[in-house]
Amino acid sequence: MNLINDPWIPIRRVDGTREKVEAWRITDFTEGKSPIVAIASPRPDFDGALIQFVIGLLQTTCTPSESGWWDWRENPPPLEMLQERFATLLEVFDLEGAKAFMQDFSPSELSNRQNISALLIEMPGEKPQKDNTDHFIKRGRVDLLCPHCAATALFTLQTNAPAGGQGNRTGLRGGGPLSTLVLGETLWETCWRNVLTKTRYLATADLDKTGDADRFPWLARTRTSEAKPPAGITGLVDVHPDQQFWAMPRRIRLQLEKQDKLSSCDLCGAEVSCGYRHFVTKNYGVNYEGFEHPLSPHYVKDGIPSPVHPQPGGIGYRHWLGLVENSTDSNVERRPAKVIEQFRSLVREDARLWAFGFDMDKMKARCWYDATMPILVVPMELEVSFKGQVECLVRGASWVAQTLRWQVKDVLLGKENTRGDLSFIQNHFWGATEAGFYEHVQRFRDNLSMPLGELSVLESWLADLRMAALSVFDHYAQAGDFDAVDPRRMTVARNDLKKTLSGKKLRQLLGLPHSLHKTA
Ligand SMILES: [Zn+2]
Repeated sequence: MNLINDPWIPIRRVDGTREKVEAWRITDFTEGKSPIVAIASPRPDFDGALIQFVIGLLQTTCTPSESGWWDWRENPPPLEMLQERFATLLEVFDLEGAKAFMQDFSPSELSNRQNISALLIEMPGEKPQKDNTDHFIKRGRVDLLCPHCAATALFTLQTNAPAGGQGNRTGLRGGGPLSTLVLGETLWETCWRNVLTKTRYLATADLDKTGDADRFPWLARTRTSEAKPPAGITGLVDVHPDQQFWAMPRRIRLQLEKQDKLSSCDLCGAEVSCGYRHFVTKNYGVNYEGFEHPLSPHYVKDGIPSPVHPQPGGIGYRHWLGLVENSTDSNVERRPAKVIEQFRSLVREDARLWAFGFDMDKMKARCWYDATMPILVVPMELEVSFKGQVECLVRGASWVAQTLRWQVKDVLLGKENTRGDLSFIQNHFWGATEAGFYEHVQRFRDNLSMPLGELSVLESWLADLRMAALSVFDHYAQAGDFDAVDPRRMTVARNDLKKTLSGKKLRQLLGLPHSLHKTA
């Protein structure tokens, strides 16, 4: 199977039809044909990986100058041109052969044979096989993968590789990084918006590392990592920036087997005569360090950038500022992904951001998160004040979320009781105020040049927060999920909450004057 010339990328068109296409077909804007809008694979982690695959292909074969970037934004390249560019990698992107896509150069050294299902990052809801005592029920078991799904699973694992026992290296951005992309109207637009211009992309490149094996690690012996750091580390000076998209933390070889009869792939259902039931592997693959991947936000502490990973509770508006622009929280700087920074400074128009990634708990995925949020353009001279106001909104909401949680806890479990993880109460509150938050942020932006325009927005946000907090409180107080709640205790707690939310502290956090506005 060839990853350039085989139609293996599952996509969806505007009219809802689905099919598999070659990667270069994303600029198929033939008249009368419904445009391709998104990747549409059987799993959300595959969707997230495949779009990075296509962006990686574009970045690797078509890194533009700034004017070149604008040219293709205005006029997408014709199919033939894109096909020609991608075809420069034809031989490098074969899934089989002596040099196989994203697989180890020295297969004879790999002795640990695994079932093909181990290639998949276990998603929540799937029980680990050892817990699966009932052998008669084949719950979502994966025994066979078609070449398309195997290639995708391999790319997904190398991109997200979690920690997994001694010497099993994590992905270049650590296990399960958060990725953030600028969304476009079509798949092409989404991809091209997330390709960096040459100056940005090659800013940190070592100009000596331009060989094919510096870009695609499977073309040479793996830079293994048995040696104690810093000896076993692969950093910016050791490879070309392209390797960020084609990183190989895991030493893997897929084993293609001819099937006795046509068999169906356990993920996509395709009937195949040759497929994958096993792969071989070995620990101590490439140990990457010090990269700032173009598609991920980073936090910078003591001058060292580290990629952001989704945490329990998900991705929400409280993270928004750090995902769309620089923000500093005590001594930690949060830096948006380079592609977001480029879009904001180069294009300067409103758009939407797509954030996704695994929440990993060491070897296992706890959850897959997927969220979209706005990117808003603010006149440069007003950026600082805008950011300050948005921070106020979030600070106020954080405090309310905390207060609400304590208050609900008191009612449900009693003041003395500290057991249990009650973060779901805060998450409920964050979810309930999400849409309102972006409305208020939008209003901020629209009122920026009006003197004191922000006050009415803050007052309105304060009212929203109060209302949402009380409604979440009532939800849990009346839900009956817990042991019988003492009604007197509930009334007292609710009144306390109401009073706290009307107090000085919250107004202060929001940057509102102490005295309440009289509207009459
Ligand atoms: Zn399949």
